[in-house]
Amino acid sequence: MKFYFGPMDCGKSTLALQMNYNHGRQGRRGLVLTKHDRSGEPRVTSRIGLGLEAVEVVDSMDLVELVRGHDRVDYLICDEACFYTVEQIEQLADLVDGHGVDVYAFGLASDFRSVLFPAAQRLFELADEVCRLQVEVLCWCGRPGLLNARVVGGEMARTGEQVVIGDTDASPVRYQVLCRRHHRAGLLGEGTGV
Ligand SMILES: [Zn+2]
Repeated sequence: MKFYFGPMDCGKSTLALQMNYNHGRQGRRGLVLTKHDRSGEPRVTSRIGLGLEAVEVVDSMDLVELVRGHDRVDYLICDEACFYTVEQIEQLADLVDGHGVDVYAFGLASDFRSVLFPAAQRLFELADEVCRLQVEVLCWCGRPGLLNARVVGGEMARTGEQVVIGDTDASPVRYQVLCRRHHRAGLLGEGTGV
Protein backbone atom coordinates (compact mmCIF):
# COMPACT_ATOMS: atom_id res chain seq x y z
CA MET A 1 0.00 0.00 0.00
CA LYS A 2 1.34 3.34 -1.09
CA PHE A 3 0.02 6.74 -0.02
CA TYR A 4 0.70 9.80 -2.17
CA PHE A 5 -0.21 13.03 -0.45
CA GLY A 6 0.00 16.73 -1.11
CA PRO A 7 -2.03 19.92 -1.08
CA MET A 8 -4.78 20.69 -3.53
CA ASP A 9 -3.77 21.08 -7.16
CA CYS A 10 -0.49 19.26 -6.75
CA GLY A 11 -1.39 16.74 -9.44
CA LYS A 12 -2.65 13.87 -7.27
CA SER A 13 -5.59 13.02 -9.50
CA THR A 14 -3.48 13.34 -12.63
CA LEU A 15 -0.98 10.87 -11.19
CA ALA A 16 -3.82 8.55 -10.14
CA LEU A 17 -5.14 8.52 -13.70
CA GLN A 18 -1.66 8.02 -15.15
CA MET A 19 -1.04 5.11 -12.81
CA ASN A 20 -4.32 3.48 -13.80
CA TYR A 21 -3.38 3.84 -17.45
CA ASN A 22 0.07 2.29 -16.92
CA HIS A 23 -1.31 -0.72 -15.05
CA GLY A 24 -4.07 -1.22 -17.59
CA ARG A 25 -1.54 -1.32 -20.41
CA GLN A 26 0.20 -4.20 -18.72
CA GLY A 27 -3.03 -6.18 -18.81
CA ARG A 28 -3.75 -5.69 -15.14
CA ARG A 29 -7.29 -5.17 -13.98
CA GLY A 30 -8.14 -2.54 -11.46
CA LEU A 31 -10.82 -0.38 -9.93
CA VAL A 32 -10.69 3.38 -9.54
CA LEU A 33 -12.36 4.77 -6.42
CA THR A 34 -13.05 8.34 -5.42
CA LYS A 35 -15.05 10.46 -2.99
CA HIS A 36 -16.14 14.08 -3.39
CA ASP A 37 -14.37 14.51 -6.73
CA ARG A 38 -14.25 18.12 -7.97
CA SER A 39 -16.70 17.19 -10.72
CA GLY A 40 -19.38 16.29 -8.14
CA GLU A 41 -19.83 12.99 -9.96
CA PRO A 42 -18.43 9.47 -9.59
CA ARG A 43 -15.40 10.33 -11.67
CA VAL A 44 -11.77 11.13 -11.09
CA THR A 45 -11.05 14.38 -12.86
CA SER A 46 -7.84 16.31 -12.95
CA ARG A 47 -7.19 20.00 -13.37
CA ILE A 48 -5.55 19.34 -16.71
CA GLY A 49 -8.77 17.94 -18.14
CA LEU A 50 -8.37 14.18 -17.91
CA GLY A 51 -11.23 12.15 -16.51
CA LEU A 52 -12.33 8.61 -15.81
CA GLU A 53 -15.43 6.86 -14.50
CA ALA A 54 -14.94 5.78 -10.91
CA VAL A 55 -16.68 4.10 -8.00
CA GLU A 56 -17.99 6.69 -5.54
CA VAL A 57 -17.03 5.60 -2.03
CA VAL A 58 -19.69 6.13 0.65
CA ASP A 59 -19.17 5.66 4.40
CA SER A 60 -21.20 2.44 4.56
CA MET A 61 -19.21 0.74 1.78
CA ASP A 62 -17.07 -2.29 2.63
CA LEU A 63 -14.12 -2.13 0.25
CA VAL A 64 -13.24 -5.82 0.72
CA GLU A 65 -16.79 -6.73 -0.32
CA LEU A 66 -16.55 -4.31 -3.24
CA VAL A 67 -13.46 -6.09 -4.55
CA ARG A 68 -14.94 -9.54 -3.89
CA GLY A 69 -17.91 -8.56 -6.04
CA HIS A 70 -15.63 -8.25 -9.06
CA ASP A 71 -14.19 -10.94 -11.25
CA ARG A 72 -10.58 -10.10 -10.77
CA VAL A 73 -8.98 -7.04 -9.22
CA ASP A 74 -5.19 -6.68 -9.31
CA TYR A 75 -5.00 -3.15 -8.03
CA LEU A 76 -7.01 -0.29 -6.59
CA ILE A 77 -6.51 3.40 -7.29
CA CYS A 78 -8.05 5.27 -4.35
CA ASP A 79 -8.39 8.96 -5.07
CA GLU A 80 -9.43 11.41 -2.33
CA ALA A 81 -8.61 8.71 0.24
CA CYS A 82 -8.41 11.35 3.00
CA PHE A 83 -12.22 11.40 2.97
CA TYR A 84 -12.66 7.63 3.43
CA THR A 85 -13.46 6.24 6.87
CA VAL A 86 -10.67 4.88 9.07
CA GLU A 87 -12.35 1.49 8.80
CA GLN A 88 -12.05 1.66 5.02
CA ILE A 89 -8.31 2.29 5.32
CA GLU A 90 -8.12 -0.88 7.45
CA GLN A 91 -10.01 -2.66 4.67
CA LEU A 92 -7.43 -1.47 2.14
CA ALA A 93 -4.69 -3.02 4.29
CA ASP A 94 -6.74 -6.26 4.44
CA LEU A 95 -6.94 -6.25 0.64
CA VAL A 96 -3.16 -5.95 0.37
CA ASP A 97 -2.37 -8.58 3.01
CA GLY A 98 -5.18 -11.06 2.47
CA HIS A 99 -6.17 -10.70 -1.16
CA GLY A 100 -3.01 -9.74 -3.00
CA VAL A 101 -4.39 -6.43 -4.23
CA ASP A 102 -1.99 -3.55 -4.84
CA VAL A 103 -3.38 -0.36 -3.33
CA TYR A 104 -2.39 3.14 -4.41
CA ALA A 105 -4.02 5.85 -2.31
CA PHE A 106 -4.00 9.56 -3.10
CA GLY A 107 -5.21 12.43 -0.98
CA LEU A 108 -4.71 15.41 1.22
CA ALA A 109 -2.86 14.88 4.47
CA SER A 110 -4.33 17.70 6.50
CA ASP A 111 -7.50 19.77 6.60
CA PHE A 112 -7.94 23.56 6.54
CA ARG A 113 -6.70 23.82 10.15
CA SER A 114 -3.52 21.88 9.22
CA VAL A 115 -4.80 18.91 11.28
CA LEU A 116 -4.52 15.42 9.79
CA PHE A 117 -7.63 13.82 8.38
CA PRO A 118 -8.31 10.60 10.35
CA ALA A 119 -8.05 8.47 7.19
CA ALA A 120 -4.79 10.16 6.21
CA GLN A 121 -3.40 9.53 9.69
CA ARG A 122 -4.27 5.84 9.38
CA LEU A 123 -2.63 5.75 5.95
CA PHE A 124 0.57 7.23 7.42
CA GLU A 125 0.46 4.52 10.09
CA LEU A 126 -0.28 1.57 7.79
CA ALA A 127 1.17 2.36 4.37
CA ASP A 128 4.28 0.55 3.18
CA GLU A 129 5.41 3.73 1.50
CA VAL A 130 4.41 7.37 1.80
CA CYS A 131 5.29 9.94 -0.86
CA ARG A 132 4.83 13.69 -0.65
CA LEU A 133 3.90 15.17 -4.00
CA GLN A 134 5.14 18.65 -4.60
CA VAL A 135 4.32 19.61 -8.14
CA GLU A 136 4.77 23.33 -8.46
CA VAL A 137 2.06 24.48 -6.11
CA LEU A 138 3.22 27.77 -4.75
CA CYS A 139 1.93 30.09 -2.09
CA TRP A 140 1.34 33.66 -3.25
CA CYS A 141 4.73 34.51 -1.74
CA GLY A 142 6.53 31.98 -3.94
CA ARG A 143 7.32 29.44 -1.23
CA PRO A 144 6.16 25.83 -1.68
CA GLY A 145 2.45 25.48 -0.96
CA LEU A 146 2.01 22.88 1.78
CA LEU A 147 -1.29 23.56 3.52
CA ASN A 148 -4.86 24.16 2.45
CA ALA A 149 -6.65 27.24 3.76
CA ARG A 150 -10.44 27.47 3.80
CA VAL A 151 -11.64 30.92 2.77
CA VAL A 152 -15.16 32.00 3.71
CA GLY A 153 -16.28 35.48 2.73
CA GLY A 154 -12.70 36.54 2.02
CA GLU A 155 -11.46 35.48 5.48
CA MET A 156 -9.41 32.47 6.40
CA ALA A 157 -11.48 30.10 8.56
CA ARG A 158 -9.95 28.50 11.66
CA THR A 159 -12.96 26.53 12.85
CA GLY A 160 -15.76 24.56 11.25
CA GLU A 161 -16.61 21.13 9.90
CA GLN A 162 -13.61 19.11 8.74
CA VAL A 163 -15.10 18.44 5.31
CA VAL A 164 -16.87 21.22 3.43
CA ILE A 165 -16.99 21.01 -0.34
CA GLY A 166 -15.92 24.28 -1.91
CA ASP A 167 -14.77 25.73 -5.18
CA THR A 168 -18.16 25.17 -6.77
CA ASP A 169 -20.58 27.80 -8.04
CA ALA A 170 -23.07 26.93 -5.30
CA SER A 171 -20.61 27.20 -2.41
CA PRO A 172 -19.41 30.36 -0.61
CA VAL A 173 -16.34 28.38 0.46
CA ARG A 174 -13.12 28.27 -1.49
CA TYR A 175 -9.73 26.78 -0.75
CA GLN A 176 -6.30 28.29 -1.22
CA VAL A 177 -2.91 26.63 -0.90
CA LEU A 178 -0.47 28.51 1.33
CA CYS A 179 3.02 28.02 2.68
CA ARG A 180 3.24 27.08 6.36
CA ARG A 181 4.25 30.61 7.38
CA HIS A 182 1.24 32.25 5.76
CA HIS A 183 -1.15 29.49 6.80
CA ARG A 184 -0.10 30.05 10.41
CA ALA A 185 -0.31 33.81 10.04
CA GLY A 186 -3.63 33.62 8.20
CA LEU A 187 -2.39 35.83 5.39
CA LEU A 188 -4.11 35.21 2.07
CA GLY A 189 -1.95 37.61 0.13
CA GLU A 190 -4.56 40.11 -1.02
CA GLY A 191 -3.70 43.71 -0.29
CA THR A 192 -0.82 42.82 1.97
CA GLY A 193 1.63 44.56 -0.28
CA VAL A 194 4.11 41.70 -0.02
ZN1 LIG B 1 3.54 32.16 1.71
